[in-house]
Amino acid sequence: MITLIENAEVFSPKPQGQQQVLVAGQRISAVDAAINIQGNAVQRINAAGCYLVPGLVDSLAHIIGGGGEGGFRTRTPELDADDAFASGVTTLVGVLGTDSITRTLTNLLAKAHALTEEGLNCYCHTGSYQIPVRTLFPSISEDLLLIDKFIGVGEVAIADHRSSQPTPDELKKLAAEARVGGMLSGKAGIVSVHVGPSAAGISLLLDVANSSDIPLTQFYPTHMNRNQQLVEQGFAFLQAGGWIDFTTSTTPQELASGEVQCAKALHQAWQLGLDCSRITFSSDANASLPLFDDQQQFIGLGIGRIASLLEEVVAAVRLGVPLPQALSVATANPARVLKLTQKGEIASGKDADLVLLDQATLAVRAVMSRGIWRYSDGSLPVTVQRDSLFI
Ligand code: ZN
Repeated sequence: MITLIENAEVFSPKPQGQQQVLVAGQRISAVDAAINIQGNAVQRINAAGCYLVPGLVDSLAHIIGGGGEGGFRTRTPELDADDAFASGVTTLVGVLGTDSITRTLTNLLAKAHALTEEGLNCYCHTGSYQIPVRTLFPSISEDLLLIDKFIGVGEVAIADHRSSQPTPDELKKLAAEARVGGMLSGKAGIVSVHVGPSAAGISLLLDVANSSDIPLTQFYPTHMNRNQQLVEQGFAFLQAGGWIDFTTSTTPQELASGEVQCAKALHQAWQLGLDCSRITFSSDANASLPLFDDQQQFIGLGIGRIASLLEEVVAAVRLGVPLPQALSVATANPARVLKLTQKGEIASGKDADLVLLDQATLAVRAVMSRGIWRYSDGSLPVTVQRDSLFI
């Protein structure tokens, strides 16, 4: 199957101007101002009025659901592949959440395979919120080396009343094993760290890096926009060479209680002139967003939404962050931290994961994943293929 996308303005996510993009099979085979190709087998898409951008890479999603903090009825549902496509997401990383007893790694792995069969590019992390972490084989290294879909560990919780209150030594050992497993398997081996609301913030990560040979880049702290103090700790972490991740899903209650809207956190970094190439956004899709009172008693919950990823990219643009930088936090940057070298960029030889956005509204008009159209809003002559068997 050969597709030629014409007349779109391409952001790779770097601005490339108007380019033609040729897709052959699952890959991008050429990006050029003029591509001469003829024949009935070529599907031509006139994408005038669109931006062509990489498919979004969501580095943290609870693909089998999460939650349970308010009892069994507060367990959240699984992710639907069609929701991801409609939101411009083509690659994602699934993780367990607070509950790693009724939510299992075998189930996580099966769901990652299911989403891949449905056309997404789905990976997952071994491990769990609590330490000692769950693994399928006896160790993290074995999971990373022997199971293709496992690319890192996490999310491991710190600074949270729901965490296992890990010590620096426990985290050190975990990070060391992830590091070696990642090196031997040629994967990221990154430790995704859930940072909770406690005042300690990411001080544990700094302790580990300062008292061992583990570099800061081994850790990938998420929810760093939980409050302004954590945003500022994150900026210091960034300046010291680390990666930070802001969470796009939120609730009005969380924003009212001090959470910094994801787009605003990126805008702050941009205005301060910080290196935004080591900032990422992730959706925390299908997570429970539990609400606790002053006594840490559960009082209700919201559910993370995968659509929030693109919504916050668009919100950052509206605040004044240039489109290439706003796109990068959900495309090229997470692909780099996760070592997904085929993902997050539009270039010859990369996987054909592409999103057409309306230039005026930045709404999704069509989404292609591994060379196959998976979503259309109906405004372009693309034929969408659905591989989900659910009606
Ligand atoms: Zn989390």
